[in-house]
Amino acid sequence: MKAVPPPTDATAGGTRSATSMRTHLCGELGEADIGREVRLCGWVARRREHGEHLAFVDLRDHSGIVQCVVPGTVEARSEYVVAVTGVVRARPEGTANPDLATGAVEVGECAVEVLAAADPPPFAVDDRVEVDEAVRLRHRYVDLRRPRLQANLRLRATVVRALRHAMDRQGFCEVETPLLWAPTPEGAREFVVPSRLHHGSGYVLPQSPQLAKQLLMVAGLDRYYQVARCLRDEDLRADRQFEFTQLDVEASFVDQEDVLGFVSEAVLDAAEAATGERPAAIPRLTWADAIDRYGTDKPDLRFGMELVDLSATFAGTGVKAFAAPAVKALVVQGGATSTRSRLDALTDRARQLGAKGLAWFRVGEDATLDSPLDRFLGDDERAGLLTATGAVPGDLVLVVADEHRLACTVLGQLRVEVGGRPVHEGPYRYVWVVDFPLFDGLDDAGNPMAAHHPFTMPHPDDLDLLERDPLAVRSQAYDLVLNGWELGSGSVRIHRGDVQERVFAALGIAEEEAAARFGFLLGAFRTGAPPHAGFAVGIDRLVAIFAGEESIREVIAFPKTQSGADLMTGAPSPLAPSVLAELGLVPKRPRGAGPDGASPGTGAGR
Ligand code: ASP
Repeated sequence: MKAVPPPTDATAGGTRSATSMRTHLCGELGEADIGREVRLCGWVARRREHGEHLAFVDLRDHSGIVQCVVPGTVEARSEYVVAVTGVVRARPEGTANPDLATGAVEVGECAVEVLAAADPPPFAVDDRVEVDEAVRLRHRYVDLRRPRLQANLRLRATVVRALRHAMDRQGFCEVETPLLWAPTPEGAREFVVPSRLHHGSGYVLPQSPQLAKQLLMVAGLDRYYQVARCLRDEDLRADRQFEFTQLDVEASFVDQEDVLGFVSEAVLDAAEAATGERPAAIPRLTWADAIDRYGTDKPDLRFGMELVDLSATFAGTGVKAFAAPAVKALVVQGGATSTRSRLDALTDRARQLGAKGLAWFRVGEDATLDSPLDRFLGDDERAGLLTATGAVPGDLVLVVADEHRLACTVLGQLRVEVGGRPVHEGPYRYVWVVDFPLFDGLDDAGNPMAAHHPFTMPHPDDLDLLERDPLAVRSQAYDLVLNGWELGSGSVRIHRGDVQERVFAALGIAEEEAAARFGFLLGAFRTGAPPHAGFAVGIDRLVAIFAGEESIREVIAFPKTQSGADLMTGAPSPLAPSVLAELGLVPKRPRGAGPDGASPGTGAGR
């Protein structure tokens, strides 16, 4: 074969695409290559035979597809792996294919060598073909041949590369932390790994490297990061898998501002690498503002529809339904055309979300209000409602009166359901949500629960409230939100034993319990702990949004189904009695029977 200078491969980060088996990638051939003899390797995407003397093979590799013309018959069928040798030439007049990147050329006079035969594929390797997700996951290695998923995995690599680069540049050191570890209190159920050597004991897979990274600060690492796998045994959904990947970050002698700066730099770099555009500086909202204006701590800033406060308008009202600590409203532009059944559905939804009811006002011509409640309103209240909301004829005003947080969160959810768009649709609107409360709600024993995790530093101005009014204490915790999805969380950590003790006490964690669960951390802190703070960015979610995907499953090579099954390998699969015995485990129910009698590991059902 004639020696052909190997081209560079832009899609693989600047490495050369030529190997000892091929000279080029299919997708990179163009008019500049006309006359060049090439050898390509890939999968047969399509084969068309025209008698005994002419056949067309569309050859596919990860870079794209090129048409190969064979002066004879072809043994290879769909998805056979072949090597094709031929000469690049312009396609005959009128046969160029504008839908194909290589459509101006073809490879002529081809010889085809079969490298591996293949069974007929379970589905066509074509982005345009809709395939049931269970079938896709069962044959993920075929699914991943499709251009969309190829692009997603490569985009993921691009994003991770950019994140790593940004952290390296900012002086962070990548450190691997253990997967076999002790419990990490992040609030989710944990995966446990029974110990073979210590029957009855086990390891816990980390929900995050939280404790390890804090110990690394005590160890003087100063700036740590890790592209870290985290494991949480929680219900799966579009934005959640049992295992997910975070850019995990921690730094010493820093405050919240420093961390927001480090993480912004990394995320904006990743956004630029993924989309070609660097987003503007990320704005901030306090948690209290986010709840008050958007009814959520994950505000989607791509659209307005901010909540309006009508509490002043209805202070001292005679309308029973509005006699509540807070009266909040949401304006739906043009919503006055909503039918009664639509309004009933919205009311049902509000009740489902915890509201006692939902008041609605259709604003008519001359600013009249069409609503069952209208006849109970005073003129001032009617005028006040219109002025405060800015509603005009044709609009719909939805009102919830309740405790402030509840009224806000119900309307915040309706805001997204009525006005929202899929998370991945542009534009990308990032926002930092800061000043989260330290505690969120009470547990069954009446103790406050950590909003982030128990190592989060209270806001310095609120330290005095820790014992007096714990639920009012703000923390130095912050979230990064993109288009209504939480991209990550972080906080300034407690590095002082006295503050940690007070927070444990507020959480109802007794001294002995703290010593048993976190003794190693508290002991480490006593050896000299620097002030430190950190963050973790959810890489799967970030990539899914950049890739325009609604589910993180589409950016993970081998994801699990909604029920936690890996349909390809059959995991989780029954453990052999000998394995159970070795681990000191006795099965509770007959081996092979799942929770509802179904056999796990068959991959059935999602
Ligand atoms: N460990 C936290 C998490 O996984 C992040 C952090 O506080 O750094 O959400």
